[in-house]
Amino acid sequence: MPTFVESTCCSENTAVSAKMKHDTRCVTELQTFNNACLDADMLEILMASMKEVLGESLRDPITNRMYRYVAYRSFTWWIYGKLGRRRRKVIPACVVTSIRKRFPEKDGCYEGYHEVLGGPMDGHEDL
Ligand SMILES: [Zn+2]
Repeated sequence: MPTFVESTCCSENTAVSAKMKHDTRCVTELQTFNNACLDADMLEILMASMKEVLGESLRDPITNRMYRYVAYRSFTWWIYGKLGRRRRKVIPACVVTSIRKRFPEKDGCYEGYHEVLGGPMDGHEDL
């Protein structure tokens, strides 16, 4: 069942569409999206930064779920700037799909919004 996160179109989101050029149909077409959300090296740098700056624990080895979690955060930082721990921001379906395709879960089961809000680096949930 689609969650709130997964049921919006990126072009309907004003914050997201502000990042898109007039001929861009989907935010996932942008090179910046690929750099910020799909590049494993970049996401590992972000993980190290989150560990140092935010004091979040980093588990080894790095799993695809952790990559997805950091990719969602990277997306929200890119689109919305600073995002408080408990503030919810919508992540369009195309973005979730693209990140899941790049960093898939072996059994194909995803936690939807919980995956975005609380991740493996929070230490509270084991999704
Ligand atoms: Zn889109």
